[in-house]
Amino acid sequence: MSNNPGSAPETHDPSRDELRAEETRLEARLGELHAGDLAETQDDNFADGGQVAAEQDEIMALASDLRTQLDDVQRALGKLDAGTYGICEACGEPIGDDRLEAMPAARFCMLHVAG
Ligand SMILES: [Zn+2]
Repeated sequence: MSNNPGSAPETHDPSRDELRAEETRLEARLGELHAGDLAETQDDNFADGGQVAAEQDEIMALASDLRTQLDDVQRALGKLDAGTYGICEACGEPIGDDRLEAMPAARFCMLHVAG
């Protein structure tokens, strides 16, 4: 509504900086995984197929883990924009600064994180 695209944000938000940094880091790691992936397929004509497959599995698992984290980080950034950042998605209570400091992309409060 009264958003001014391109203008500086009114408040400097350390959480946003941290989430942006985390997003960049995760994207870089995903990029590295894919780069390594390609190098391996080109390079490993002589390698034992089973071992390559096992390594591919590991890379896939790692990549999917990174993607989940990236997803959480991007979701948290979206919530910052929406003004709902730091609110538990289950109960609507504040997640708490300590917890957000340790886990900036946290989606749930202590009570609802388990399970
Ligand atoms: Zn909760």
